[in-house]
Amino acid sequence: MLRILTIPLVVVMFSVQCFSQTWSIAIHGGAGSMIPSDFTKEQLDEYQKELKNALEIGKNILSSGGTALDAVQQVVMYMEDCPLFNAGKGAVFTHEGHNELDAAIMDGKTLDAGAVAGVTNVKNPILLARKVMENSPHVMLSGKGASEFARLQGLEIVDSSYFFTKPRWESLQKVLEKEKMGTVGCVALDLNGNLAAATSTGGMTNKRWGRIGDSPIIGAGTYANNATCAVSATGHGEFFIRYTVTHDISALMEYKNLPLDSAANLVINYKLEKVHGSGGVIAVDKNGNISTQFNTTGMFRAYAKKDGEEYIGIFK
Ligand code: ASP
Repeated sequence: MLRILTIPLVVVMFSVQCFSQTWSIAIHGGAGSMIPSDFTKEQLDEYQKELKNALEIGKNILSSGGTALDAVQQVVMYMEDCPLFNAGKGAVFTHEGHNELDAAIMDGKTLDAGAVAGVTNVKNPILLARKVMENSPHVMLSGKGASEFARLQGLEIVDSSYFFTKPRWESLQKVLEKEKMGTVGCVALDLNGNLAAATSTGGMTNKRWGRIGDSPIIGAGTYANNATCAVSATGHGEFFIRYTVTHDISALMEYKNLPLDSAANLVINYKLEKVHGSGGVIAVDKNGNISTQFNTTGMFRAYAKKDGEEYIGIFK
């Protein structure tokens, strides 16, 4: 009799530990020094519409019990295919007039990660990052080797002209004094309590010499750990690398017990701000709390939670 009573109790305790009972998702489409007058009403509507579409993809996956990993990958793939953002189609141009793409994905449950840098002919770099994570013994592949691996994995290879968009080309021609940003990212918590993060970018306009930013670097632009949070960054990558921004937020939670938003605020609005490192992050913690912190005038962002809370924003 005693035995029969103990089993359900163990099952209940196990479920309490393993299921978060909630899901949350946040996305970004890049941070920058944008102000409302930089855009027409139609352009703002278009950005809002695409952020909403991307968010819906993630919401559908998470609310039907899908994994955080699938949610962040699918959302980022959608944003890579959307020419409005600086990732996949619509990526910015290098100094030499090419597109070199970086992306990373991380699974907070296992701390497995995959990243690619300087990719020139793979349609969806985030998908390649996931293949690196799951089907290779490595964390990061770059350039020609990454393309070769993509081919072996059967991913869609495109001519490099696929990434061409007129506005991005014109922004290179003007060699903007304000570097054009628009990286994409997604973080999610699923119903099983697993966190994941993904980031994809064309990097910074006018970059040269094979420059690689923070986005594909685990702990700089992308990080996820079930013990703390999942974070995706956007901004001036050199600062995010030197200040290991996404891991720093996780470490403040882990070692100092800081709540997610305080940790993100401290890193973005104090540590980075002090050294003029511009940008922001989206983050979600293991309880489904969301933080969107940025020290620029704007960051394309959106989030949704299981309880129905939803937000889409561009400016401060
Ligand atoms: N962080 C990206 C990079 O430095 C750019 C961006 O987020 O806009 O490559």
